[in-house]
Amino acid sequence: MTIVAQRMRQVKLSPSVAARIVLNRLREEGRRIIDLTIGEPDFDTPAHIRRAAVEAMECGETRYPLSQGTMPLRQAVADRLILDTGVSYPVDQIIVSTGAKQVLYNALMSSLETGDEVIIPAPYWVSYPDMVELAGGTPVVLSTDATRRYKIDPQALARAITPKTKWLMMNAPSNPSGAVYDEAELLALAEVLRANPNVWVMTDDIYARLTFNGRPAPHILQVAPDLAERILVVNGVSKAYAMTGWRIGYGAGPKDLIKAMAVVQSQSTSGACSISQAAALAALTGPQDCVAAFATSFQKRRDAALAILSTAPGLQAVSPDGGFYIFPDCTALIGKTAPDGTVINSDAELVQYILKETGVALLDGGSYGVPGTFRLSFASAIDDVREGCEAIRAVCSALSE
Ligand code: PLP
Repeated sequence: MTIVAQRMRQVKLSPSVAARIVLNRLREEGRRIIDLTIGEPDFDTPAHIRRAAVEAMECGETRYPLSQGTMPLRQAVADRLILDTGVSYPVDQIIVSTGAKQVLYNALMSSLETGDEVIIPAPYWVSYPDMVELAGGTPVVLSTDATRRYKIDPQALARAITPKTKWLMMNAPSNPSGAVYDEAELLALAEVLRANPNVWVMTDDIYARLTFNGRPAPHILQVAPDLAERILVVNGVSKAYAMTGWRIGYGAGPKDLIKAMAVVQSQSTSGACSISQAAALAALTGPQDCVAAFATSFQKRRDAALAILSTAPGLQAVSPDGGFYIFPDCTALIGKTAPDGTVINSDAELVQYILKETGVALLDGGSYGVPGTFRLSFASAIDDVREGCEAIRAVCSALSE
């Protein structure tokens, strides 16, 4: 007998949360850890945003806000979305939630019937399949491969669609691969979606402001605005403004869907924290140079990491176009033996061995749907990123047949 519901059997603790628990234990034991699992910017939230929160508190913005999000914030989101997607959303088609994660969750909860399929391209953000399961849907993993820079193949997408398909999840820049689609690639996907009017699309744009070489991530709505009636845009302030702890995300889409999501929210959290919403308003309407500065800093770290990893025997790393992760292929190392006799049988074992030998923490690629890879976050101090990558290279060099 257990108090835990049947549906929880399919759902696991997020691997990054699980990794954090292990790393805290190792630190308590006195080990020095270089943590390259981190899924958040290491910057402080910019001062003008913090000040806006203090002012909100002082001015008494401490009561229940509108459950769907404050009007000024929803208006600011609407203004931002015109820049990011080209679509002008009225405020009743926008919802503010407790992080982008809750937007995704509200959307799945309010749209999935039992057994509805959700196409999740792999590698995927670890939470997608579990969230789909929690909402009673069936995750359908769509493989991509490194030769296409882990981007969805339109023909493979067409083959994966069935009459039960409800959603396609899109995430660019991708966590974990950093892949960004260009306009032509988005148009090819839009063609498939036009031919399949039962399929809706969630675009998780949480890393879209953090791209490299000054090249923005084009949005599918910019190339196919006709699809707006079945696209839910998901974004937030966590990554672009270093505001992960404030928990503000937003969604924009067709009226019926947003209305249903607002009902889920009104019956679960009653909406996002009022003070965080004031801070997010300052983030979206204030100076934007912090976002570009963060992206530049991440690009330097990406380049530093790739310069080292590209000389590590057995690793193939595609250069990410945005976000703050590298997703190297390590299949050439599987089956090799370490100097202490340990045989590396999988990406998870490689990651464990690297942690044990060097104190460098990574996440296994199997958790992201692509065994034979791992995820390295470069959202740590550049010296730690360099030292961590040197240590990984040393481990790779020491493995033998
Ligand atoms: N989507 C992706 C792809 C992410 O990587 C993350 C966080 O790691 C989120 C959504 C969650 O964002 P938020 O902090 O706004 O809930």
